[in-house]
Amino acid sequence: MSLKKERIVIKVGTSTLTNELGNSNLHRMEELAMTIADIQNMGHEVILVSSGAIAVGANKMRLKEKPKSMRMKQAAAAVGQCTNMFLYDKFFGYYDKTVAQILLNAEDIMQEEKKENLTNTFDALLEHGIIPIVNENDSVSYTEIESEEKLFGDNDMLSAVAAVLCNADKLIILSDIDGFYNKDPRLYKDAELIVCIEEIDESTYELAGGAGSRRGTGGMRTKLQAADLAASQGIDTIVANGGNPKVLYEIVKGRQVGTRFVGHRD
Ligand code: ADP
Repeated sequence: MSLKKERIVIKVGTSTLTNELGNSNLHRMEELAMTIADIQNMGHEVILVSSGAIAVGANKMRLKEKPKSMRMKQAAAAVGQCTNMFLYDKFFGYYDKTVAQILLNAEDIMQEEKKENLTNTFDALLEHGIIPIVNENDSVSYTEIESEEKLFGDNDMLSAVAAVLCNADKLIILSDIDGFYNKDPRLYKDAELIVCIEEIDESTYELAGGAGSRRGTGGMRTKLQAADLAASQGIDTIVANGGNPKVLYEIVKGRQVGTRFVGHRD
């Protein structure tokens, strides 16, 4: 029996892409590239949504502490984005894959015309076997890095928006934790993993704590918002641990990994 070929959006957070010192986690990035290349070789189409530009840039600029002002965050993002794309290009290139950079602002997805342009670009890239790598355009926008609302919440929302824009079958959010628990496992030892969520409502949001790890910024709340948006468009979201990118194989094969948020199908 052959597997259905799917269009899959995979989001990786800062905590998956960088180590404790804020440097690029090269081993992780390489494994991620290899796994995604392999999944593409199985006939699937993959869009990667990648964070980590500010942390990597701050490190490369040898800043003594995490940048606080907007201008420094944006400068660090400009440096780090370049580093990340260089590394992705190199790692994916090793497996004979071509990548493309897509930087987005919130405004880009609010205007019909821009939305259509984006959808066409995604389609053209995917038709040619290219792996689009998406990030928020941090150096010119501030929705992700500064706004109170954290619209894109460390790219969680951006990944859902990308999934909707390119009509994806699946959204996979890789985090530093095994999935969505009934309470924050970093605070409560007895927290239990929830394997499947059919309906996201107020009570689900109450289970998510505040912003997450030191290096991540979104926490589970923004992942729920992303899953909520994806579900409303019939797209399943899987939240799983990115510590071992090989979990992607299991997810693509439809095996139970992490937490699955079921997309609403009429
Ligand atoms: P990433 O950079 O991977 O997006 P975040 O640090 O932003 O990661 O989000 C993941 C974190 O969310 C976890 O490490 C955990 O501390 C926190 N969290 C809060 N509530 C929950 C919950 N109910 N289930 C799982 N994790 C939770």
